[in-house]
Amino acid sequence: MSQEAINNALATVKYPGFSRDIVSFGLVRSIDFSEGKAVIGISVTTNDHSVAAQIRDDIEAALKEVPEIASTEVSVSINPAKKAETPGAQATPTGIPGVKHVIAVASGKGGVGKSTFSSNLACAISKLLAPEAKKVGLLDCDIYGPSIPLMMGVGGRPEIEEESIIPLEAHGIKIMSMGFLVDDDTPVVWRGPMIQKTISQFINNVKWGNLEIIVVDLPPGTGDAQLSLVQTIPLRGAIVVTTPQLAATQVAKRGARMLEKTNVPILGVAENMSYLENADGTKSYIFGEGGGKQTATDLGVDFLGQIPLDPRIREAGDNGTPISIADPESKSAASFEAIAKSIVERL
Ligand code: ADP
Repeated sequence: MSQEAINNALATVKYPGFSRDIVSFGLVRSIDFSEGKAVIGISVTTNDHSVAAQIRDDIEAALKEVPEIASTEVSVSINPAKKAETPGAQATPTGIPGVKHVIAVASGKGGVGKSTFSSNLACAISKLLAPEAKKVGLLDCDIYGPSIPLMMGVGGRPEIEEESIIPLEAHGIKIMSMGFLVDDDTPVVWRGPMIQKTISQFINNVKWGNLEIIVVDLPPGTGDAQLSLVQTIPLRGAIVVTTPQLAATQVAKRGARMLEKTNVPILGVAENMSYLENADGTKSYIFGEGGGKQTATDLGVDFLGQIPLDPRIREAGDNGTPISIADPESKSAASFEAIAKSIVERL
């Protein structure tokens, strides 16, 4: 009976609430096998002891399926979660001084328009709050393809003042992006390890000033990078963006479950690229119909609304002025405004 065979069996055990397994999460510390007995050592960083118990039960069940193993002993060492690094850690990050609410925009997969949505949402909220002289920030955490600088028409290196980073500003919104700090040709493999550190700095060392709301554009996906980010940022809640098609809604739900796991409330689901409005006013449902509403129903959260598939939304983003500002009277801008209103009301 090889260690590898036992390892393979352990790789079928998922971390509770996640689609990833305990081996790939690096939780297995030791594997011993002699005379039919498997002794497994696991180390988990969590404050939730039911997680450890669940993992132990699942390992025992998985190894029962292996004919050569007559008995199993699992020892789990639990480290209390201090830093938000490990799945299941329930650490609550502290707030950003001067900032009232931080909300995140998440998507299960890339290309659903998460950054387009984030930039327009920030602009729409900013317009709503302008009469009260309240300001909005936009934090771009999409390490793999930071597109907020392009969409907001802002670039260059932020200034440093007394060891604090001064956010750049565009359309009245304070902006920080990985894109300001990472060159386009930085290899993607370097970005993963950089993110946690950089995001902590964005939270702790950026002079945001007094802001009512910061909108955070999360990286797409539901892996470790997203998880540790969500645990680093003091989030008031998150919006899940999806397109109407089934393939996107399924991953959107996975993303939502990750958020729930970290106790971040889901403020609702928004559907992007819902339909194309034809010249005669009829609608073509290019990516299918109803996925956003279905996702919201499945998650038991509110459906926030639809954003049409509109070439002017893309053009406005490419030109550095989101449609909410470039063409505020358009139907597309109105759809962002409606969602912004319901978010502000919720907060
Ligand atoms: P993500 O952040 O999810 O990867 P982006 O916001 O970068 O997605 O959008 C992907 C592409 O789709 C961009 O070129 C963007 O301009 C375009 N896009 C996003 N939403 C819409 C929309 N509602 N109508 C038209 N184009 C859109």
